[in-house]
Amino acid sequence: ESGAQVKVRGRDEIARLGTAFNAMSASRERLEETRKAMVSDIAHELRTPLSNIRGWLEATQDGISRLDDELVDSLLEEAVHLQHIVDDLQDLALADAGALRLHPEPVDVPHLLAQVVAAQSPAGVSLSVEAPDALEVTADPVRLRQAVGNLVANAVRYTPAGGVVVVRGGRDGDDVVIEVADTGAGIEAADLPHVFDRFWRADKARTRGSGGSGLGLAIVRKLAEAHGGTVTAASAPGQGSTFTLRLPAGTAAR
Ligand code: ADP
Repeated sequence: ESGAQVKVRGRDEIARLGTAFNAMSASRERLEETRKAMVSDIAHELRTPLSNIRGWLEATQDGISRLDDELVDSLLEEAVHLQHIVDDLQDLALADAGALRLHPEPVDVPHLLAQVVAAQSPAGVSLSVEAPDALEVTADPVRLRQAVGNLVANAVRYTPAGGVVVVRGGRDGDDVVIEVADTGAGIEAADLPHVFDRFWRADKARTRGSGGSGLGLAIVRKLAEAHGGTVTAASAPGQGSTFTLRLPAGTAAR
C-alpha cells in the first residue's frame, strides 16, 4: 500500500508543491509504520506478565497449584509491572499529544536528588549525591523526580555489585545540569543513538527479567523536552555510562 506520489517536473511553484506533497506522504507512511510497530511492541510487553498471572490463577483454580504467599508476591509483582507499563504508555501518549501538563515551581535540586536516591535500593552498588548547597531550578517537581528516578534506576540496574553510581547536580551557565554516572556495563557506540527509542533495549533477553519496559528513557527525553531541556547519553563500553539532563534554570515550562 504505497502512498500517493505526484510526478514532479520542473522547479516552479507547482513542482515545489508536488515535492512537498511527496515528502508529506512519505513521512505519513513512516509514521504509520512506527505506529504499527509500537502497537505490536505493546502487545508483546503486556502478553508475558498477563499470561503468567492467568496461568497461575488457572492452575490454582484447577487445584494444580496453591496460592501461597510466594506465589501471591510474584503475581503482585507482575501486576505492578503491568501497571508501570500502562502508566508509562499513558505519559508518552500525553507527551505526544502535547497534553503533558507541567506544574512548574522553584525546586531545590539537592533535596530532590536526595529524595530520588533514598527511594532506590541499590543491592551492592554505592549510590551517592554530589551537589552544591544551593541549586534551584523551575520545574515540575513530580516530573523531574520521575525523570531523574528513571536515570538512577537504570544506572543501578545496569551496574553490577561493587560498582558506583554518582548523581551530580550543578550549573553550566544558565542551565542546571543533573548527571547520573555509573561504572556499569556501558553501551556500545552503535547502540547509543537508540537508547531513547521506545521499547529499545540493548539485550532483550537479559533486561526482560530485570523489570524494565524499555520505555524509561523515552519518557526521560519527553520530560526533558517538556521542560525546554535535553537529555544526552555518553558511554565507554565496559567502563560505564553517563546520562546528562540539562534544564534551563528559569525554564518557562509549559
Ligand atoms: P529499560 O526498561 O529496558 O531499562 P530504558 O528505556 O530505561 O528501558 O533503557 C533502554 C535500554 O538502554 C536498556 O534496556 C539498556 O539496554 C540501555 N541502558 C539504559 N541505561 C543504561 C545504563 N545506565 N547502562 C547501560 N545500559 C543502559
